[in-house]
Amino acid sequence: MNQEFNITVLPGDGIGPEVIREAVKILKIVESKKNLKLNLTEAPVGGAGYEAAGHPLPEDTLKAAQSADAVLLGAVGGPQWEKIDFSLRPERALLGLRSNLGLFANLRPAKIFAPLADASTLKPEVVEGLDIMVVRELTGGIYFGEPRGVETLPDGTRKGVNTLVYTEPEIERIAKVAFDVAGKRDKNVCSVDKANVLECTGLWREVVTQTHEEYKDITLSHMYVDNCAMQLVRNPKQFDVIVTTNMFGDILSDQASMLTGSIGMLPSASLGGKTAMYEPIHGSAPDIAGKDIANPLATILSVGMMFKYSFNLEYVTTVLEKVVDDILGQGYRTKDILSDGGKEVGCAAMGDRVAEELEKQLG
Ligand code: NAD
Repeated sequence: MNQEFNITVLPGDGIGPEVIREAVKILKIVESKKNLKLNLTEAPVGGAGYEAAGHPLPEDTLKAAQSADAVLLGAVGGPQWEKIDFSLRPERALLGLRSNLGLFANLRPAKIFAPLADASTLKPEVVEGLDIMVVRELTGGIYFGEPRGVETLPDGTRKGVNTLVYTEPEIERIAKVAFDVAGKRDKNVCSVDKANVLECTGLWREVVTQTHEEYKDITLSHMYVDNCAMQLVRNPKQFDVIVTTNMFGDILSDQASMLTGSIGMLPSASLGGKTAMYEPIHGSAPDIAGKDIANPLATILSVGMMFKYSFNLEYVTTVLEKVVDDILGQGYRTKDILSDGGKEVGCAAMGDRVAEELEKQLG
């Protein structure tokens, strides 16, 4: 029997619908070439959700996400919704999806495609062949810890507080994700903390070390976050998988991703619950929305991650990544990655090029 998967597609705002349209072309090619049945359900989210149902994450959208095998998200947000109440801003939909789907692990690969080695701000020899996976804890740590807030003291001065909290089970489950991911890669995990200063990350280091006992085939090292920030620029190729807390991961994954050139190239996966979510790391880019110049490759590569992590069809991921490499090798470039001699194409044409080539290569 053909394998069947339900995918909830949330285009969102700005360039979201444009890049999602191209990613859906890729889903259709894989469906027909591999005899799968992919049931796509589209729903509004972010500003589009607010306009359609008065909430960035309408109830029906959340239900559609919860009942799917995987969620594909474009991007949310835009200047037209910046003045509405904070609780109804488009970006709140992301937090709602993460917490309701139990997505505690965010996987952000920073992989350089050979034809783009000169698009990085670092020297080509430093980044050529770079392939790092940052595993960021997504639902705990200082972004969620209580107490939090700003209070006025009796003397009239104000005090701001945020709290870094991790429990043993929270650390253990993210460490397991990192070791499992490393098992499918080069089998090296670097756990990043600030154990010399923060007790909470001292516990992090202890629990990661204990959890590692079940993963003897994986090599584990530890690094302080300040050193990691420096090593990512000095010699980024020393890393395979980096696992770290919510805030450190937020910062380090942005740093790692920019080693590869453009924000328009980078996919992500958020895992943890029954349903995982896949999205490009970029936002809704209102400055270029509707102009057919957005780079759809981050979203297309997010579809690639979906086949690997949700559907266990890793060969589709491998072929898709090779196709993207080939298309870039043939010189096709959207505006954000255009360099001398490149053949400029728009968002839809880039999607078409990848779809045509995938159709040829996906045996
Ligand atoms: P952004 O990522 O949307 O854009 C930053 C810059 O990168 C812009 O110049 C944009 O044109 C460019 N860019 C982004 N994606 C691109 C692509 N695929 N191809 C070519 N160029 C691309 O970040 P921003 O401008 O800070 O935020 C814009 C809106 O997006 C805000 O409302 C913000 O809250 C929202 N946002 C949403 C998400 C998300 O949905 N996950 C993430 C970040 C920001």
